[in-house]
Order: sequence, then C-alpha cells, then structure tokens
Amino acid sequence: MIPFVDLKAQYASIKDEIDAAVLNTLANCSFTLGPDVAALEESFAEYCNAPHAAASPTGRTHCSGPAGCGRRPGRRSHHRPHTFIASASAIHYTGAKVVFCDIDPVSFTMDPQALEAAITPNTKAIVPVHLYGQMADMDPIMAIAKKHGLIVMEDAAQSHGAEYKGRRAGSIGDIAGFSFYPGKNMGAAGEGGMTVTTNPEFDRKVRMLRDWGAEKKYHHEIIGYNMRMEGIQGAVLRVKLKYIEKWTEMRRAAAARYAEVFAGTGVRIPVELEDRRHVYHVYAIRTPDRERWMKVLGEKGIATGIHYPFPLHMLKAFDFLGYKKGQFPHAEKAAAEVMSLPMYPELTGDMQQVVADAVIELQNETAAIAAE
Ligand SMILES: *Cc1c(COP(=O)(O)O)cnc(C)c1O
Repeated sequence: MIPFVDLKAQYASIKDEIDAAVLNTLANCSFTLGPDVAALEESFAEYCNAPHAAASPTGRTHCSGPAGCGRRPGRRSHHRPHTFIASASAIHYTGAKVVFCDIDPVSFTMDPQALEAAITPNTKAIVPVHLYGQMADMDPIMAIAKKHGLIVMEDAAQSHGAEYKGRRAGSIGDIAGFSFYPGKNMGAAGEGGMTVTTNPEFDRKVRMLRDWGAEKKYHHEIIGYNMRMEGIQGAVLRVKLKYIEKWTEMRRAAAARYAEVFAGTGVRIPVELEDRRHVYHVYAIRTPDRERWMKVLGEKGIATGIHYPFPLHMLKAFDFLGYKKGQFPHAEKAAAEVMSLPMYPELTGDMQQVVADAVIELQNETAAIAAE
C-alpha cells in the first residue's frame, strides 16, 4: 500500500520534540496565543522574508479579507476557478463580489492576461492562488494591481517556502494567507493558519480581528472574531518550522525522481517554471482517462487524489454568480484531467518506482487506444 501522504511517518521522525513541546504547553497553561505562538509568528515572518505574521486557526478566512481592503458590497475581487473553495468563500464573506478569470494551463495559476481583461472600475482586489506549491506569475499581476490601484492578496495555503524570482510566497503581495491544515506542507496537530503581510496597518487590523476587535484588552476598536491560534498549535508548529526547509527539499527530490522515471514516456507531469521554486504540495499529472487510471492504481494499492474535480464557477455554492460551463476552458479542462500522485517528504524512490511503473503502463494503454 502506498499512501497519498503519511503524517505518521513525519510524526515518528520528530516525536520526542513534538511531545515535549505539547507537554510544555500543558505545564505552562499558555493555551491560546502566548509565547510559542508569538515566537512562531516572528520566525514564520522571517521564513517568508516578510515583516509581519499573525497566527490564527485557519489559512484563509474573513480575517485577512476585510483587514486588507475594507471592501463593501458592490466591490469585486478577482480569483481563478481551478482551486480549493476557501479563498473565494473568504472574498464572499467580506461582502465583495467574486469574479473569476481563467488559469494559465501550464502552471495552473492565474493568467495575468485573463485577469486584466476581467478588471472593471469596481474591482478592488486580486487573489492569486499559488496552486500545488508553485507561485503565480507575480510581476505582471503586481503591475496590473499598481496600474489599477488594487490590493493583492496571495493565497499561499499550499506554498510555504515557494519562490518567484528568488522572492518567497507572502513577501510580494500586500497580504497573504498560509494554511497549517494537517495535510499541508507544514501541518498543525489540528487547525492552523498565518496571515503574512508587508503592511503594518493590515497586521494591526488582523491582530484585532482575530481577538474580538481589540488590540488592548477590553478596548474594542472594531467588531472582530475569535480567531486566536491555540498555544499547542504554536508549540507544534515551532518545532515543524525548523524542518520545513529539509522537508521541502525532500519533496523537491521526490519530484525530481518522478521527472526522471517519467521522462520520454508521454506522462504529462507538472512543470516547474524557470523562475520559480515549486514546493510540490500536490504532484498533479494529467490524463483524459483519469477515472480508469485511478481505479487501476487503487486496485494496486496506490492512493491518488483529484485537486480539484470541479472548477469553482461550476460549484452549486457559486450558482448565484451566474457563470456557465465553457467560460473558463483552461480551468475546466484541468479540473477534468488532473490526478495527484503520492507526494510527501518521506516517500521513497522504491515506492515511486512502483507508482511510476503502474502509471507508465496505463499511459501506454491510453496512447494505444488513442492511436486506433
Ligand atoms: C487548504 C487551502 C485553503 C484553506 O486553508 P484552511 O486552513 O482550511 O483555512 C485555502 N486555499 C487553498 C488553495 C488551500 O489549499
């Protein structure tokens, strides 16, 4: 059996440190925010090469939305539809209207040309998603934002440590959301997230929003939420932050091994663009014959996934936006074809060979059928 991810293997590799960190929190009774969370915020900001980071229980919520923009109904935010639902929902919570634009079919990230075409005088913010661990094409996106006076909110939930022209995710846009959901590249022992920003005023507002709207206890300046990170998560994540670079390099090494065994086979593997550092949160290949491939691989004990089977504009939740099938052909084609192979730091070359042999056999069958 080859799992899709193996959180137990990761825990086993750092068990003593994690256990000690959790027990220390229990002994200190610093259960919410507290010294570990503060230290995590400081180190995570440094890791992103950004000046500010504020921890919360989720990667992308209403927290960073209104903080960044003060958006009002009637305002629009641009997002791309081949992704997870969270950041589009977060835009909606702020009262802004979600507007989608198509993706670049190679990187699966926002297509700057499609973005520019979708901008209207009501547009307020742009939400590029660094999907699968590869950053969106940030230079043109930032130029478009500057030209139209828009805020850029990076969805960095899948891209801890990813780089664009040597710059880290979270350090380019105005504000960014990272997720520490357990299966992400850096996962909490439960829920967790971080809002990273280059703007001190946004940082101050996010910190107020996450703690019932107060910067100083009982001095509530705005209507906020309870979005405080738990002390135990801060303690666990502080330990994991020490290893994230090592784990990222292990993911990249695993991706390089896949690329080597799939070379020349016709299997459509992910493309790392020249100026990016892909951190391979998801290793998505493409095939028009996905259903059968997944079934055959499953029978051989190889776990696979689909990230994501439906483009957001076709989801029932966004019916009210009035989009139609066919409006975002690249996103729709990607949603129909992508299939994710096992990818995690502890994945071994032997396991990858088993996966690759099975995938190559399927690829040959699919090619033979197509040639008939
Ligand atoms: C996981 C994920 C989120 C949401 O993160 P949470 O921690 O669940 O709030 C947002 N966007 C993308 C692209 C994700 O993968």
